[in-house]
Amino acid sequence: MPAVIITERCDGCGMCISECRGNAIQMNAGKAAVNEMLCMECGACVRACPNNAIAVEW
Ligand code: SF4
Ligand code: SF4
Repeated sequence: MPAVIITERCDGCGMCISECRGNAIQMNAGKAAVNEMLCMECGACVRACPNNAIAVEW
């Protein structure tokens, strides 16, 4: 499963974007949004998010 943003918890800090090697995350209206076609399911964004706002299910 690609990464999923829990938008209620996302404050738009952008730390996940810096960590994503696949360039799979963009900001959309102040919230992170994952491009499922580009997500490699690596989990780096999950570890980077200070608000626990990203989930990846393996
Ligand atoms: S799981 Fe990896 S590739 Fe997918 S959005 Fe997060 S950092 Fe990017
Ligand atoms: S790191 Fe978390 S809180 Fe920051 S933009 Fe990404 S999903 Fe949102």
